[in-house]
Amino acid sequence: MGMAGNAASSGESFAQYFYNSSYGPNATTLLNAQGTASGIVVLWSNFYAETAAGQIVTLIHELIHSMTGLVGHDAIVQKFGITVGPRQTASQAIDAWIQNGCHN
Ligand SMILES: [Zn+2]
Repeated sequence: MGMAGNAASSGESFAQYFYNSSYGPNATTLLNAQGTASGIVVLWSNFYAETAAGQIVTLIHELIHSMTGLVGHDAIVQKFGITVGPRQTASQAIDAWIQNGCHN
């Protein structure tokens, strides 16, 4: 089973994916049989520890994977012209962009 956000995670089990993440994911969009992002989103335990505002950002982040079919964060950054700061991952830049009303 593949999961969006990190191409290297393809083929990992749920447990491997969770424990290989440095802090544990909040949510994960699963991949479909074609290897693109599906409409199925897993909400991990960390999601429920987020603030309401954080949960909204997480859900929109996963919605972007599902709606575009894009798996990798770099592809999403490129598609929407999101600026990635020097100390940000592409995933963090996407979340900051969402928090700022889908503006850089
Ligand atoms: Zn993602």
